[in-house]
Amino acid sequence: MLLKKKEEIINILSEVYSESKEIDAGISQDVADKAESSYTKEFLFSLSDTERKRLFMIDEAIKRIGDSSYGICQMCQNNIGKKRLVVVPWAPNCIECQEKEEKESP
Ligand SMILES: [Zn+2]
Repeated sequence: MLLKKKEEIINILSEVYSESKEIDAGISQDVADKAESSYTKEFLFSLSDTERKRLFMIDEAIKRIGDSSYGICQMCQNNIGKKRLVVVPWAPNCIECQEKEEKESP
């Protein structure tokens, strides 16, 4: 049961992740003749802050699945609500901590 849920989450995460990678691959072919390093930089620049942040969070979530800390708030160590994980499968912290952080950041 738990394993199946894990697989589901990995599927959702990798789907979102590969979507971003597909954009990556598409641009890559267009500029194949150009220097790869400058292309990579340009691709990262072309991503919005939100997309970059999301990619990073998905990466982190996949790592957490690997070390079984997935679904645990990174700030208070409580379990993240199931509803929240359905909406934001890569959420690193619970809704309480998230709200706290949003209030504190300008
Ligand atoms: Zn928390």
